[in-house]
Amino acid sequence: MIPAAFEYYRPKDMTGVIALLDEHGDDARVMAGGHSLIPMMKLRMADIPHLIDLQDVSGLSEIDVSDSEICLGAMVTQSDIINNESLSSSAPILREAALQIADPQVRYMGTVGGNVANGDPGNDMPGLMQCLDASFVLVGPDGERRVPAREFYEAAYMTAREDDEVLTAVIIPKPSGGYAYEKQKRKIGDYATAAAAVQITKDGGSCTSASVAMTNLSDTPVFSEAACAALVGTAVDETAIKAAVDAMLGDIDPSEDNRGPVAFKKHVAGVILTRAIERAWSRA
Ligand code: FAD
Repeated sequence: MIPAAFEYYRPKDMTGVIALLDEHGDDARVMAGGHSLIPMMKLRMADIPHLIDLQDVSGLSEIDVSDSEICLGAMVTQSDIINNESLSSSAPILREAALQIADPQVRYMGTVGGNVANGDPGNDMPGLMQCLDASFVLVGPDGERRVPAREFYEAAYMTAREDDEVLTAVIIPKPSGGYAYEKQKRKIGDYATAAAAVQITKDGGSCTSASVAMTNLSDTPVFSEAACAALVGTAVDETAIKAAVDAMLGDIDPSEDNRGPVAFKKHVAGVILTRAIERAWSRA
């Protein structure tokens, strides 16, 4: 399929990007790796008269790991995440999740900024960032603001980002304890039927903190506070895990599609979360 005609821009800095967004309003859209946007344009599900490529904007591809937090520039690719050793030792769940996204070709192009800004419930990084309690840095004509990932998603493809704002970075508090990203998909390269991100800490055999987020089981990623509460203070035994799964099932709202009916998706969500909790706990 061939997309509708569009003007292509390649500004060198964020001032140029914001000026173009300001000039063209709703008719303009930024492009990062293009691996979600270009297919939408080719299928004519998105008509973008003015396409602003972020590839040449400086300062968006850095990975910074400090004692307390991690900063991922918006143009950091999934492949960059997989291959960065400092990142892999500081927050190994990022690598574990990135390796389960699509295939190497997509991962060379797909960016963290595009993945979290897109608002597609099937994207893996929004739930992952909710689990890690990340914040998104947004830059617009009125300056910069930060929005917690847990407050960013409003509905499918609807987020707290304004049309004239660009997501420039993702800030992640350095995680501790055990982790797991577990994903069930129909085949390599597919989006999740269900995925779970879990971070957990342990002290003397008891769970001291837990973070649980689910992917592709609602219009938005689901951070399940109830599932976290069901684990904290327990020995994360069979009873606690079942309570966490039951709590998570009360928070998700899957719909039937080509990945299966609602009952099947809920069943898979339960299996996936059980595995993720068990693996995270074994690593804590
Ligand atoms: P783009 O396609 O360039 O942009 C996506 C959207 O985000 C656009 O609306 C764009 O305007 C907006 N945007 C991009 N960057 C910014 C920014 N910095 N600020 C504001 N808005 C921005 N993803 C998964 O998570 N899991 C999968 O299993 C998976 N499987 C895939 C399989 C295939 C075959 C393909 C083609 C893609 C798959 N993807 C999957 C999507 C892939 O990870 C994309 O790379 C990702 O969703 C979007 O990143 P991008 O950099 O390509 O963004």
